[in-house]
Amino acid sequence: MRKVLVLEDEENIRSFVVINLKRAGYETIEAGTGEEALVKLKQNPSIKVALLDVMLPGIDGFEVCRRIRAMDSKIGIIMLTARTQEMDKITGLMTGADDYVTKPFSPAELTARVDALFRRTGGEEAVDSGEELYQPPFLLNLRNRTLEKDGQRVKLTQVEYGIVKLFMQNPGKALSREEILDAVWGRDYFGELKIVDVNIRRLRIKIEDNPTSPTYINTVWGFGYKWGA
Ligand code: CA
Repeated sequence: MRKVLVLEDEENIRSFVVINLKRAGYETIEAGTGEEALVKLKQNPSIKVALLDVMLPGIDGFEVCRRIRAMDSKIGIIMLTARTQEMDKITGLMTGADDYVTKPFSPAELTARVDALFRRTGGEEAVDSGEELYQPPFLLNLRNRTLEKDGQRVKLTQVEYGIVKLFMQNPGKALSREEILDAVWGRDYFGELKIVDVNIRRLRIKIEDNPTSPTYINTVWGFGYKWGA
């Protein structure tokens, strides 16, 4: 069963989301506060995607996201943001979210985002079989979907893993932001290119020796990014 956690304090919005996800074939677990969401996640380890409202009584959605990521790097996280400020989107992504949906959203938009994230968090497993990509100091294990740098495990989200895999499969090749978006988020994704930049920023913090002067993920100005020199 495809399980989604819905964290939203406003009951009418929560039931709107739940009804539409159920109609799309998802099982939903509901929470009205961040604290409740964290408890329910622990009780339901099979939850694959979490929708987190930002503005909540008690701890906010960003803090919930941060705490989920401290326990689990694999779960897909979509922030539900009422405000349209760019900073909110970027803050959410930097705390570990994979995507965001701005309120008010249509049922079709929401389920499309959840579907896309489900495909990314689970759908690829069958294709990758027992292979490893080794490009010192990095070792990418395609079966376990894990990355090591100098033998040390680097904890990645599913999106970050998808980006590293794309880079390591195309060393030295300049990849446009559109290509990265298509390969990692899927061709049917209708988000913004900026999401690529924010994820790369987060990834650099995790894998570069000096994130302000990156040597592994290089910027190709006005175009995109390149893995290695
Ligand atoms: Ca709220």
